[in-house]
Amino acid sequence: MFLKKLAVPFAFAAVAGAAHAAAPMAKSQAPGFYRMALGDFEVTVLNDGTIDLPMEKLLHQKPDKTIKALGENFLKTPVETSVNAFLVNTGAKLVLIDTGAGGLFGPTLGNLVKSLKAAGYEPEQVDEIYITHLHGDHVGGLGAQDKPLFPNAVVRMDKRDAEYFLSKENLEKASGDAKGNFQGPISSVSGYAGKVKPFDGNTELVPGVRASSSFGHTPGHTTYVVESKGQKLVLIGDLMHNAAVQFPDPGVTIQFDSDSKAAMAQRKAAFAEAAKQGYWMGAAHLPFPAIGHLRAEGKGYEFYPVNYSVPR
Ligand SMILES: [Zn+2]
Repeated sequence: MFLKKLAVPFAFAAVAGAAHAAAPMAKSQAPGFYRMALGDFEVTVLNDGTIDLPMEKLLHQKPDKTIKALGENFLKTPVETSVNAFLVNTGAKLVLIDTGAGGLFGPTLGNLVKSLKAAGYEPEQVDEIYITHLHGDHVGGLGAQDKPLFPNAVVRMDKRDAEYFLSKENLEKASGDAKGNFQGPISSVSGYAGKVKPFDGNTELVPGVRASSSFGHTPGHTTYVVESKGQKLVLIGDLMHNAAVQFPDPGVTIQFDSDSKAAMAQRKAAFAEAAKQGYWMGAAHLPFPAIGHLRAEGKGYEFYPVNYSVPR
């Protein structure tokens, strides 16, 4: 009896001691959501994961220049690049803007539903899904092969992107790897029969959220403007891909653009307007949580990421 009682504290001490000496490396990150109030709305940034991008090859300027700009920001190529989506609760509707990559871009992406659940929502609650453009890392998270991950949602995008990326004819004309540019989107929306509703240019979609055309990165690339009680957040999708290079020099374009010149003009206009008006700006590939303010600085801009805040 006496010995048995003693054995427990000693055993405990041994375990605690061992744990202190060699805790395993956790190799995980905090849940991928960040919440902020915008007037009466609640905006939750959802991270889908990250992907390594060789920016010195993708950006259209001398590789040395890109490497130097990255170095000044304590970054190296390939740059671990966030893929983000944005959930807007207007109080009446739950709106998801972009969906991440789903299974289209490998194991470091496809965490959107995990982040959504960590943020306290179920996919069934999402009413509306607005897609900035139909590239795989924005549309892949809808689901695949007739299986919708958001069974109660309607899916909306500009009709120019729908006509281009969801075209069976374009799929047939494409060769080799280029087929994937069409196969991915077609498979992603396949579970939403009758619920894919393209719009034509600037459109109010639900009160407080509107589509604003920013064609260039893709034929129907769209910016979404979220507004409540005089507060404004403009989600610019893929008008930019790298903060270290494109804020100081918005003239640098990227290989992913279908029309680089138009995409550049849209980026310059978006940055100028955000800096002038002082509203919030968010982008799919800014480092999570991917929201902040801009200030004009020399020939370019300085980005001020959102101050960490806990809703009260
Ligand atoms: Zn993208």
